Amino acid sequence: MAKKRIAWDFDDTVFRTLEAVLVFSNERYGEEFRREQFTTREFNKVWQITPAQWYERWCLFNQTTAASNLQPMDGIQELLGILGQWYDFDIVTYRDEGLAQQTELILERWLPGVFSNVHYCSRGGKRYRLKSDVCLQIGAAVLFEDQPDTVQACAKAGIRVVVPTQPWNKGERFKSPLVTRLDSYQGEIVSVICEDVD
Ligand SMILES: [Mg+2]
Repeated sequence: MAKKRIAWDFDDTVFRTLEAVLVFSNERYGEEFRREQFTTREFNKVWQITPAQWYERWCLFNQTTAASNLQPMDGIQELLGILGQWYDFDIVTYRDEGLAQQTELILERWLPGVFSNVHYCSRGGKRYRLKSDVCLQIGAAVLFEDQPDTVQACAKAGIRVVVPTQPWNKGERFKSPLVTRLDSYQGEIVSVICEDVD
């Protein structure tokens, strides 16, 4: 029987991106922000900059070697190893297609051969397709996703979503029964997921 498929967001779901961005931006702009302060989905508001300035920071960050050296989330390698017995995995990301090479190098370094495909949903700094549409197209049984807006949109489209708790989604009350929150990638989560999607 063909395995079912799980879709994974990339940034701050599989890899610890904001942490690396903060090391870069604190140094560059002489700031002292910590990730715990990012309690809103609109990161630019925490920095008190415009969305365009945040995008500029993001682009500058992506030119640094730190952007190619992202670290995996705690417990993710073990979790993927276990879930891989029953599921195939794809990455579905709002990262820009222009970051494909560095994104795939990071995946190759930490999780070689784990993901069948990487689906980019942005091009030239603009989203050109919805993650929910891609998840439906690839027949994903579940999406792992940290961004509250995307969680809501995908649940609305009928996709089951697992949300790793992060400061920026902690305050969100997800009302959809399709959304399951996860405080850690360690522990009892395997049975939760497998029961949920069967
Ligand atoms: Mg993310």
